Amino acid sequence: MGKYVVVKKEDCTSCGSCISVAPDIFDLDYDMLAEVIYEGDSNRGITSIADDLIDELEEAMDSCPSECIFLAAVPFA
Ligand code: SF4
Repeated sequence: MGKYVVVKKEDCTSCGSCISVAPDIFDLDYDMLAEVIYEGDSNRGITSIADDLIDELEEAMDSCPSECIFLAAVPFA
């Protein structure tokens, strides 16, 4: 089963926590809002995150003060 992730940018406070914890998955965009950059996903939530990054992903979600990182078992689009 896949793990697909997106950031709901309108709720992101640019704290940088997810990027510190999971830099292979998240980065800030030009507006300083977090987005999913994993394998060029561009925050579309269509790229399944590799198994060896799932611990980082879950830690990043737990660290997000805005709870604006969303995970699904199927692609978002
Ligand atoms: S942890 Fe949450 S609020 Fe902080 S930059 Fe990442 S998505 Fe935005």
